[in-house]
Amino acid sequence: MTTSTRPRLSLPPCAHVPQHYTGPSRDEVLATRRQYTNPAIFTIYREPLMLVEGHRQYLFDETGRRYLDLFAGIVTVSCGHAHPKVTARVQQQVAALAHTTTIYLHPHVGEFAKRLAAKMPAGLDVTYFVNSGSEANDLAVLMARLATGHNDVIAVRNAYHGGSPAAMALTSHHTWKYPAQLNTGIHHTVCPDPYRSPYTGTPEQIATRSVEDLRDVIRYSTPGNVAAFIAEPIQGVGGVTHGAPNYLREAYAVVREHGGLCIADEVQTGFGRTGDHYWGFQHSGVVPDIVTMAKGIGNGFPLAAVTTRREIAERLTQRIHFNTYGGNPVSMAAGLAVLEVIEEEGLQRNASEVGGRLKAGLRELAMRHALIGDVRGMGLMLGVELVKDRGTKEPAREAAAEVMERLRALGILVGKGGLFGNVLRIKPPLCITAADVDFALDALDRVLAEMAP
Ligand code: PMP
Repeated sequence: MTTSTRPRLSLPPCAHVPQHYTGPSRDEVLATRRQYTNPAIFTIYREPLMLVEGHRQYLFDETGRRYLDLFAGIVTVSCGHAHPKVTARVQQQVAALAHTTTIYLHPHVGEFAKRLAAKMPAGLDVTYFVNSGSEANDLAVLMARLATGHNDVIAVRNAYHGGSPAAMALTSHHTWKYPAQLNTGIHHTVCPDPYRSPYTGTPEQIATRSVEDLRDVIRYSTPGNVAAFIAEPIQGVGGVTHGAPNYLREAYAVVREHGGLCIADEVQTGFGRTGDHYWGFQHSGVVPDIVTMAKGIGNGFPLAAVTTRREIAERLTQRIHFNTYGGNPVSMAAGLAVLEVIEEEGLQRNASEVGGRLKAGLRELAMRHALIGDVRGMGLMLGVELVKDRGTKEPAREAAAEVMERLRALGILVGKGGLFGNVLRIKPPLCITAADVDFALDALDRVLAEMAP
């Protein structure tokens, strides 16, 4: 069917009726924000979008227009917007007691740590709660340094681990790095993702060759011992990039040979998003020494965590370590509710099934639209890399921005990422349905057809 003869696209039905919005206009909000917030705080879309209400996988703007959210507030809203169970638990807790720190006892903090331990491989059973992914990664690196007595840390090129001064050093995109380096001894090894790898061969061969680079980094840039290796099982901001499953297995072995601990940054990949496993590292059959979590753990509430083995965690006791909001009862209530909702609603299975349908559909689109250079990812963590030419793989950055704009016009929100900003990032709330996926595929198909030269 040609674009012009296709029926008009409409979002799958949704019974939720948004409240009538009575706040300041979008233009007023924009003007206030431009005047009073730091100009580094950016919006996407040519005309910034204002959102005032959410219902599961849908968002509503101030006019009541509904959007299918395929980005989940940057991979954060795992259970869905305004999830009734999460909302109720948080409201109850706010009404009862909004704040205590961990210098007092409160039942939630130990309970949530215990439930997280039950989701982890044996031995990873001690958790420290913080408020953001950057803080979690800072703390993980600190613990690794204390536990090993070494300083050097290896991260993977194209990674994103945070924007705090310490985590920024781990992050590996010049676009996110300011010239103010406070974290010494950070090195980056080659990214094992086959699509833009400097090496050739099968994905497994590229993974093995990438681990040789890791060995070389240790050999040439460190004293021969390292504190840690940190990696996202699937790079999120980097554009949904990952190596073959043997990469982490072989990398972890090399790092351990050199006295280092292995940190899995599960900020995006955790809590069932990748479908077949609860944690991203499980796809590679590895067991990290430290796991960092944020985003999906709280369905949007500020909550992050570092889980490790007791003997590693104990190294922090040599000094005082304290975090005012970490482990606060409201975030803990949100986290406990999220764990339950993921189980009760089978969201991990949904990520696998609906994600599989979406990926198959995207692959099918790739056969018809030359702009698509690569489709990758797992479960509901998918990336579509756009290129000007499949042979040269020249990034199609402007086209990616245009696709986002046009999808928005059709009622769909997606993200973008990758060093060149040319990868569409599709990482919706885990409650998305097959009907949503079919709608999104149809919309993307139309947009790509319209944009074809
Ligand atoms: N790690 C990963 C994998 C992330 O994607 C992010 C955020 N994009 C962070 C860490 C940092 O999290 P936060 O923004 O909560 O500090």
